[in-house]
Amino acid sequence: MILEPTTLKRIVRSVLSTCPDEIGCDECFEQLDRFVELKLAGKNAAEAMPLVQDHLDRCPDCREEFEALLAVLRYMT
Ligand SMILES: [Zn+2]
Repeated sequence: MILEPTTLKRIVRSVLSTCPDEIGCDECFEQLDRFVELKLAGKNAAEAMPLVQDHLDRCPDCREEFEALLAVLRYMT
C-alpha cells in the first residue's frame, strides 16, 4: 500500500492534534467552496459544516480567504 503525501499529512495531523475534530488550513480550504456555496444559497453553512466554521472562527488567514471567495461569488452571481 502506497500512501499519498496528503494522506500521510492527514494521519500525522490527526495523531498530533489535541482535538481530533479540528481541521487544518488545507482541509478548510478544500471544503471552503462548498461552504461558501451553502452560504450563498441561504443555507445554514455553519450547521452543515461545523468544522469549517470552527476553523474560520480561529484562523484569520482562512477567514480572509473565505471573505474574499464570498465577495467574488456574490459579485459573479
Ligand atoms: Zn486556516
